[in-house]
Amino acid sequence: MRVLFVASECDPWVKTGGLGDVVAALPAALARAGVEVRVCLPFYRSVRRQVDAARSCATVLGTVIREARLPSGVPVYAVDAPWLFDRDGGPYQDRSGQDWADNGARFGLFGRVSAILASAESPLTWRPDIWHGHDWQAGLGPLWLKNGLARPAASLMTIHNLAFQGLFPPNLVATLGLPPATYAVEGAEFYGQLSFLKAGLHYACALTTVSPRYACEIQEETHGCGLQGLLRRRAGDLTGIVNGIDEQVWDPARDPLIEARYDARDCAGKRLNKESLQRRFGLSIDPARPLLVTVSRLTWQKGIDIAVGVADAWVEAGGQWIVLGSGEPDLEATVRALADRHPQAIAAHIGFDETLAHRLEAGADLFLMPSRFEPCGLNQMYSQRYGTLPVARATGGLADTIEDVDGDGATGTGFLFDEASPAGLWGALARALSVYRDPPRFAALRARAMSRHFSWEQSAARYADIYERLSRAPC
Ligand code: ADP
Repeated sequence: MRVLFVASECDPWVKTGGLGDVVAALPAALARAGVEVRVCLPFYRSVRRQVDAARSCATVLGTVIREARLPSGVPVYAVDAPWLFDRDGGPYQDRSGQDWADNGARFGLFGRVSAILASAESPLTWRPDIWHGHDWQAGLGPLWLKNGLARPAASLMTIHNLAFQGLFPPNLVATLGLPPATYAVEGAEFYGQLSFLKAGLHYACALTTVSPRYACEIQEETHGCGLQGLLRRRAGDLTGIVNGIDEQVWDPARDPLIEARYDARDCAGKRLNKESLQRRFGLSIDPARPLLVTVSRLTWQKGIDIAVGVADAWVEAGGQWIVLGSGEPDLEATVRALADRHPQAIAAHIGFDETLAHRLEAGADLFLMPSRFEPCGLNQMYSQRYGTLPVARATGGLADTIEDVDGDGATGTGFLFDEASPAGLWGALARALSVYRDPPRFAALRARAMSRHFSWEQSAARYADIYERLSRAPC
């Protein structure tokens, strides 16, 4: 079985969120399950700077296809189009946070090239059975595979976040040379705009998303982002497969980024990690105070405003809170102001810092994720491995991967709440606090959370089943 992964991010070369983690880890897990995966990525400037060698192996539509290898050994086809991808700034935005004005052209060409590589028109000898695209940046691939390419691979489209759709003005249809008939309600049109994601969801042979609960939620109006009708029609082709985590990288017994290592049998190191965080951030150094942390994009989706709404009460109850993240400027300012107001109890580090993310997981007692929606989420899984009990909204992948603690703490691995409001969150925090104040009960919960596994192997096996099914009966 040969699969071409098509995505705009892949850790460690380019990552803005969970997508980059998945595209790095899943191909390696699939390879261990006997599936041959190659990853197709834009050849961003950041990728060019990090790869050792990127030999040109073909040209497609004026782009140069370069062969490289990820640190995991998985081969990569990088699409080198310097006028589109060789620039400073992020993969989607410039340094000031503005979307690149030519994103439609950038990912329009990328999707088309990826489709050609998965058809008889590819100049490469390696030909995939399955084209597997991720999120809107890959969305035009299935459209091209269904419209005119010779002997196309079967296609699978994975939704990592339905809220990002890649919407562009309709004149792009002609600019990209899309067959005019594809710009239709039964196609890539979305209320007068060209939607890359809708194209993918309409034309792909099968669809997945990153948790079973999110697969159901996106068929309803609240989380369907206007695509719920299409997703309901395609419900028979839509599967939810929860992401795994890299248990080598996220393992408190071996993590080189944390100060003191520990495991479920001996959590003494966790106390040292907590003290070191309290010292570094100027919080009062007190092992008895519950330390809550957040590592997240600071956005409405992540419910940061909901968390802000309970901050004063949390401090009043003796709690501490450290926030690591960046995002919407007003949320960044609000979090900073809270830290100024409560210097011994709240701290903020605005920015992206992988090492600090590990240290926060290792030193905290509780991890906060009050997301309004969460397709899968990774930090709640890292947290359980690190014995840092998640306090999270019962949505999407959070609901699928956290077992809610029952009244007396005899079962469960975290604290879930339903209502997306400070009052709803406070209910879960109050429950967490009451267990925290009973150290033997808290230790038992922590040990239970740490014993859970979220490896990629199980998820990879489910993807492999879908590939098998598609290769036997392509659409
Ligand atoms: P999303 O992809 O919606 O942002 P996920 O929970 O799926 O959320 O994945 C986010 C990933 O990015 C996690 O690995 C998380 O630890 C990491 N991350 C997010 N913000 C930061 C930050 N400021 N510093 C370090 N890591 C971060």
